[in-house]
Amino acid sequence: MSENSKIEWCDHTFNPWEGCTKVGPGCDHCYAEARNARFGGGTATNWGPGAPRRRTSASNWRKPLHWNKAHAEFFAAHGRRQRVFCASLADVFDNEVDPRWRIDLFDLIELTPNLDWLLLTKRIGNAMRMLKSHDWCAGQRNVWLGITVVNQEEADRDIPKLLATPAHVKFLSMEPLRGPVDIAGYLTPSFPHCIAFVQGKQMEDGYCGRCGGHKSDPIHRRDTHDYVDWVIAGGESGPGSRPMHPTWPRMLRDQCAAAGVPFLYKQWGEWTDEDWGERAGCQDTAGVLPAGEFLLMSEGYMPPFDQQERLAAAGNVRLDGRMLMDRVGKKAAGRMLDGRTHDEFPRGAP
Ligand code: SF4
Repeated sequence: MSENSKIEWCDHTFNPWEGCTKVGPGCDHCYAEARNARFGGGTATNWGPGAPRRRTSASNWRKPLHWNKAHAEFFAAHGRRQRVFCASLADVFDNEVDPRWRIDLFDLIELTPNLDWLLLTKRIGNAMRMLKSHDWCAGQRNVWLGITVVNQEEADRDIPKLLATPAHVKFLSMEPLRGPVDIAGYLTPSFPHCIAFVQGKQMEDGYCGRCGGHKSDPIHRRDTHDYVDWVIAGGESGPGSRPMHPTWPRMLRDQCAAAGVPFLYKQWGEWTDEDWGERAGCQDTAGVLPAGEFLLMSEGYMPPFDQQERLAAAGNVRLDGRMLMDRVGKKAAGRMLDGRTHDEFPRGAP
């Protein structure tokens, strides 16, 4: 369960256990569940409410210790620390996991200070409570805490919780991106992000004059920074993948650039815009590619009127906001956005 990873933004993947329950639209085509079923003779035995989670082997748990020891060699070769993605086949803050396993994981993170641990969760609402059960609640310097956000609803529900949770680096994995998302306010320090503000509960005695949350509420503790450090975006890949309107990642790229926040564009996924045909030297400018499929997206985001011409020039968006998409496969679709890759990272622990 641990390996040198093919994922663009990490060096290793470590799974302390396997198994999970679907919790949102980002889980619809869960790769990990399909994998679990494949190894389970067609049934995902570790998936769903009440299903047992499977702890990985002791030898797997020793691998991060070896990576940690190899720090000097890695740093000499790459000029940075190793990044470990935990967990690709589970969720660290799954409340159906034996709490002792999580404490073992937190102990392992403390024992490996040369590694940057990227904990990516879809259950940020559980994180503060579960971290408190361990004394690194104040924010371990080698932990990057990330949440999956696929639409505006999830952004407004979960980013305030992320910002209220201590971590050295806070990031968003916006994959598979399912709609246009405005995150500009969350990229700016001290923007009123708190849950009380988002829910409109504010302005009574004893409440924060800026955002309306009570000053004793953990959400207002200023012992940690209150903005997003890094954004990863990408489209969906694998069977049943849904297309991503090109305007959606462009919006994120532009919001990050305006706020000076690192942006990593991971992939288009299975689908890309019809410009692909021209970029690949295809003679058929109508956008019908050898793969044969295309889709006219009518759910596309309508950009503000004053941006439409610029967007149309940059990326073939129709002036009415619709987009012709082609299913060309993940490899062919690639990871270039408007002619270049975006591979920016935040600063980790020194
Ligand atoms: S949280 Fe992640 S691992 Fe769990 S079901 Fe959703 S996509 Fe799969």
